[in-house]
Amino acid sequence: PNFVDFRDVWLAYNDELLAQNHFAVESIDLKVKQGEFIAIVGPSGCGKSTFMKLATGLRMPSMGKILIDGQPVTGPLKISGMAFQSPSLLPWRTTVDNVLLPLEIVEPHRSQFKARRKEYVERARHLLQKVGLGGYEDKYPWQLSGGMQQRASICRALIHEPKMLLLDEPFGALDAFTREELWCILRDLHAEQKFNVILVTHDLRESVFLADTVYVMSKSPGRFVVRRDIDIARP
Ligand code: ADP
Ligand code: ADP
Repeated sequence: PNFVDFRDVWLAYNDELLAQNHFAVESIDLKVKQGEFIAIVGPSGCGKSTFMKLATGLRMPSMGKILIDGQPVTGPLKISGMAFQSPSLLPWRTTVDNVLLPLEIVEPHRSQFKARRKEYVERARHLLQKVGLGGYEDKYPWQLSGGMQQRASICRALIHEPKMLLLDEPFGALDAFTREELWCILRDLHAEQKFNVILVTHDLRESVFLADTVYVMSKSPGRFVVRRDIDIARP
């Protein structure tokens, strides 16, 4: 079954732009299978961030329809986790408390979070261990390198066990060695947990290394998402 299903989706950011037929994305038809890892590459301004906003329900399409996990999207989705180029950890929280943040927000009552805190902390420790941050749970962001902060931000995106992980240039700010190390960590997490991944990147090599399917998004005229049959030879 398709986990993500974009059916002829168009978005103009406001009524004025709509009246001028000025669309940020046009006619996107895209299907992502259950558990599939896709990457979207393309130049600045082609609509990658807009696509992400649509896939998380932060923006509704002007035309067309989006189904996620079989349900029409009507507002922001709790089933996704997100990580961006900047790790954006809260400086006054330790690593483990940064990772727990989404659970604190999603849990409707403070008392419920407190009651389950022990279990959640265990889950966070387990994830941190997997990305090589065992022993850093109680450190603050300023005590971690950039690569370590980014690992923590990926744990934060995964802590509520999302069905879909959305990554917007998550490795862009890292040096080449750290970046490739994190590629392997992400690939292993995906192989093990089978969540869907949508990765936006400028790095073709990265997209080919990680994704099952690579989509190339082009600029106008006729912005749309093209499937390229890139033969993925994994190192
Ligand atoms: P990318 O992420 O690939 O750089 P974007 O999705 O940010 O591309 O942008 C796609 C198009 O939509 C661009 O022409 C951009 O100028 C326009 N756009 C992006 N955000 C807004 C906004 N909030 N209001 C109006 N136009 C926007
Ligand atoms: P960077 O992003 O700066 O390249 P990495 O995240 O790849 O760094 O970290 C490389 C290794 O260096 C880590 O596994 C860790 O052992 C060590 N390290 C980096 N920064 C720190 C720190 N602030 N405290 C302790 N060890 C660190």
